[in-house]
Amino acid sequence: MNEICICPVCRRKFGKQVRLVREAKRYICPQGHSFDISAKGYVNLLSPAAGAHGDNRDMVLARSRLLDSGIYAPFRDALVELLSDLPADATVWDSGCGEGYYTSAAAKCADGITVYGSDLSTAALTAAHKRCPSLSLVAASSYALPAGDATCDALLCLFAPEAADEFLRILKPGGRLILGIPGKRHLFGLKELLYDTPYENAPHDPTLYGFTLIENREVKYDIRITDPALIRSLFEMTPYAYRTGAVGKQRLQTVEALNTELHFHLLHYRKTQID
Ligand SMILES: [Zn+2]
Repeated sequence: MNEICICPVCRRKFGKQVRLVREAKRYICPQGHSFDISAKGYVNLLSPAAGAHGDNRDMVLARSRLLDSGIYAPFRDALVELLSDLPADATVWDSGCGEGYYTSAAAKCADGITVYGSDLSTAALTAAHKRCPSLSLVAASSYALPAGDATCDALLCLFAPEAADEFLRILKPGGRLILGIPGKRHLFGLKELLYDTPYENAPHDPTLYGFTLIENREVKYDIRITDPALIRSLFEMTPYAYRTGAVGKQRLQTVEALNTELHFHLLHYRKTQID
């Protein structure tokens, strides 16, 4: 477990240096920097100065309920199909893994596959461990991934910050990057409810330095949600939760059913070989 992880302070590999210090399990690097292994199933590799970040427990629970309703299952299944030809001993890193819905699906792609998930939110990592105890989970920023250079066969970044330099660094030569991004019609039915003049999402430029795009897979389908609590959970996990005015929020409070498109792109890249 956590064999590829490096100390976020001095960047040396931990190796097998897991010790008990005052009855708490800790990771200790060769330079003596040490990090808690939480009883909740993750290692905290954030520097102590970083403080608490990310989604809180209520946000994580709402997101888990929404994902467990199955509305994102076709997108998850498309992702799993892209990963299905990974070698059985592959190492996969999910950057910004949240509560592990996609991470756990990746872990089931093959026996023997090792899947790491990183997120700033320890509440999300706690939920991810409950969802799939075999995941190797670390609290870390996407912009400072605590993995050694050229250690991963594939990297997932699904609706999470694109830290392309870090992704390049930790991928093996020829390694694969899968970005999940919203398409132009994503949640358009929700936007029609919230806004008088909804706009489609701007197109995403898939150019990424250091990577070659090998496939742009579009996933698009319609959903209907008839549970008002789930509709509000869906709203809360979108950027619109911060941008919507009082009128839109009032419409959301009274709506009993929502019909909307879900529209995604899975951008599948290979790390460009440099001769
Ligand atoms: Zn260290």
